[in-house]
Amino acid sequence: MTMKNILNKLQSGQKLDFDEFLFLLDNRDEYLANQLQSLAIKTRQKHFGNKVYLRGLIEFSNYCKNNCYYCGIRAGNANAKRYRLSKKQILDCCAFGYNVGYRTFVLQGGEDCFYSPDDIADIVKSIKQNYPDCAVTLSFGEHSKQVYQQWFDAGADRYLLRHETADKTHYEKLHPQNMSWQNRMACLQNLKDIGYQVGCGIMVGSPFQTNEHIAKDLVFMQNFKPHMVGIGPFIPHKATPFADKNAGNVDLNLFLLSLIRIILPDVLLPATTALGSLQSDGRERGIMAGANVCMPNLSPQEVRDKYSLYNNKLSSGAESAQQHEELKQKIENIGYQVVVSRGDHARFEKEGC
Ligand code: SAH
Repeated sequence: MTMKNILNKLQSGQKLDFDEFLFLLDNRDEYLANQLQSLAIKTRQKHFGNKVYLRGLIEFSNYCKNNCYYCGIRAGNANAKRYRLSKKQILDCCAFGYNVGYRTFVLQGGEDCFYSPDDIADIVKSIKQNYPDCAVTLSFGEHSKQVYQQWFDAGADRYLLRHETADKTHYEKLHPQNMSWQNRMACLQNLKDIGYQVGCGIMVGSPFQTNEHIAKDLVFMQNFKPHMVGIGPFIPHKATPFADKNAGNVDLNLFLLSLIRIILPDVLLPATTALGSLQSDGRERGIMAGANVCMPNLSPQEVRDKYSLYNNKLSSGAESAQQHEELKQKIENIGYQVVVSRGDHARFEKEGC
């Protein structure tokens, strides 16, 4: 196994195995990062030109029944100021977003049992009725296949559910015993079987993560072929068991964005809020590494601070849909173009779904 050999394989679109991914990770330096970045940029250019897609993120509830050790809105954080948005508030967010040019709304929340499956289906239906030219993405955690099907039938197009780690033992270090890695993975498969455009993903530098874990994640992504991948650095939250853990590494995050772009050439890949929160030009650097999606915050101003997954999470400036022009400008300044379109995955555009 030589580096030249691996790079040739990547260039010609061949799959890498676990050892080859691990070799790349173990030999990561600035030179290799630059090589992957150029290949990622070429790949993205071929599939998307210089287009960057926007998704309006509506964080509709920070109540959560789960107790993930890393997450600031975990049930066990008694200090979290909880909120949930009404259907009307959610629709108001969409109305604002639509006017600014968003054609995808992402409804993300903690696993809040207050909303019944019917409630969510009803919200999805109303958004699709009001904005038939828009896509609705849900990111609302683990549910039964039946419930996922109900939301799909109501009109939901996409679902984001990060797998968090492809290694069961690592998963168990990040989550309490009542959460299961098998169930997380089964949910992703169910979503795909139903017909959603599906997004998986990881936190870069999550506690106890090793290069072996990341190599496993890459093998998983390569085989699962998600339509979207969300990765961002882990950032500690002060009221969690991981308060004292180190944040993830921005350069590793950028390296992985490039690598994911190369192994999944037409994937929709956001430069995430976490990346922008850790470094002021993180979002731009993410795009330059191979990302092609930004997800500014559309939630009502007064609840923004409360969806606090980690310390110092950004929700203002170009991270906010209200400052749309600022974001557009920043993206144009680095040579890209914000487009007003649903931005579906190519496999779905062709099928006309
Ligand atoms: N309940 C939904 C949404 C969770 S929040 C779900 O289960 O999918 C969305 C993502 O934020 C999580 O999947 C996790 O990867 C990320 N996240 C949570 N806490 C974080 C932290 N401290 N640092 C960085 N990312 C975090």
